[in-house]
Amino acid sequence: MSSLLRHLPSVDQVLAALGSDPELGSQPRALVRSEVNRFLDLCRERVRRGEISDPGDLSLKALLPGLRRSVREGCRPHFRRVLNATGVVVHTNMGRSLLAESAVRAVTEACARYSNLEFDLETGERGSRYSHVEDLLRRLTGAESALVVNNNAAAVLIVLETMARGREVIVSRGQLVEIGGSFRIPEVMAKSGAVLREVGATNRTHLRDYESAIGQNTAALMRVHASNFRMIGFTKEVGLKELRALGDTYGLPVIEDLGSGNLVDFQALGLGVEPRVQDVVAQGADVVTFSGDKVLGGPQAGIIVGAGKYLDRIKENPLNRAVRIDKMTLAALEATLRLYLDPDLAMAEVPTLRMIAMSEAAIRSRAVRLARLVVEQTGGRLKVGTRKGVSRVGGGAFPERDLPTVLVRVEPGRVSLEDLRRFLLEGDPPLVCRVEDDALCLDARTLGPGELKLAAAALGSALAALDDKRSA
Ligand SMILES: *Cc1c(COP(=O)(O)O)cnc(C)c1O
Repeated sequence: MSSLLRHLPSVDQVLAALGSDPELGSQPRALVRSEVNRFLDLCRERVRRGEISDPGDLSLKALLPGLRRSVREGCRPHFRRVLNATGVVVHTNMGRSLLAESAVRAVTEACARYSNLEFDLETGERGSRYSHVEDLLRRLTGAESALVVNNNAAAVLIVLETMARGREVIVSRGQLVEIGGSFRIPEVMAKSGAVLREVGATNRTHLRDYESAIGQNTAALMRVHASNFRMIGFTKEVGLKELRALGDTYGLPVIEDLGSGNLVDFQALGLGVEPRVQDVVAQGADVVTFSGDKVLGGPQAGIIVGAGKYLDRIKENPLNRAVRIDKMTLAALEATLRLYLDPDLAMAEVPTLRMIAMSEAAIRSRAVRLARLVVEQTGGRLKVGTRKGVSRVGGGAFPERDLPTVLVRVEPGRVSLEDLRRFLLEGDPPLVCRVEDDALCLDARTLGPGELKLAAAALGSALAALDDKRSA
């Protein structure tokens, strides 16, 4: 065995052989070396287990292709691009919204250069980081005042902490939602120090339920967007206008957590009603919170708009520093909001809006093109077709509403569906698709124009990798 091991190349020999690899050239040397060591250790282990017995299999030449693949994989950044062929536009696990090009440029500039982040260019003195978006938000939503924080969970937390710590907030039982990833209204409420006063039944809450819960210790009335679920059947919710009137009677503020904040009229696109922030403000909500990176299509952020008398207190809350928005986010948010000054421009430039509004005809032509590319890239080894299906907006907007789409359906043929799916995830870039009725389904809605080719190539590479594995 030890004589066999002597055939194994040295680390330096391997490093010299990999020296010209373009993908590894820019990687830290220590990282490449440790990945090489790991691979050679694995070879030694296989020799010990008797899996390798031919000295020829241990030559540098024989090892190089597998070694190169393994070292490249080991050196790849952990956080990286994926191809999203799931058709879920605001996919919480895949980065939610993609930024518009102008927002991407703004981020690059903000992080590579000094800026007037907190510097007032008129006075030459300290300024406020919130000033960059406050006017825009006021203009777009009609609210008196605005503030941005790290995300909407933080927005809800700081609003409740400021307005209701130690006091009661009345919420309908039908709106005590849990959003993916552990955001639950009752728990956030508890963390803020506010006391949840739930009213009504799961399916029906009446105005009188809110009214009879109002007491000495009531701080606010609150509505929460149901986000990721929809109640059907024998249901009743109290609308914002009615709640506003009740608030006026008792001198109580109304807080609305919209979740996925939206500034455009989707009804015109036949997508059903998703409340717009400006309508909620106009209907009299005192404080409205929403996300920057759901349907709005900007960076991760929590946006708070509303009456100055509440917003001023929220701004002064020491917690604000702990949930502060960073400069890259701020740059992306300003650039995104600027697009909304012209709603047509926003529809054209904000990727999230563009993907939601994409016509069935446009998706069909992409699906047909993708299917053809897949056939080309896989040498006709997979059964490829198109069929009608549905995409989802995701991110808690338009819950349970389907967007008609055209899927590319790939039947795995002789390879196992599970193997193929797994090898696609190991690819570079990884391709994530849906598995439905014993086939892989690719939804071109969420693939960018240049990504159809990459997705088809990913299928080709996954098949090749599966072949390699089987012949090994
Ligand atoms: C998504 C959502 C949140 C949390 O927003 P993040 O931006 O993910 O922190 C809070 N409330 C509702 C109703 C939501 O839909």
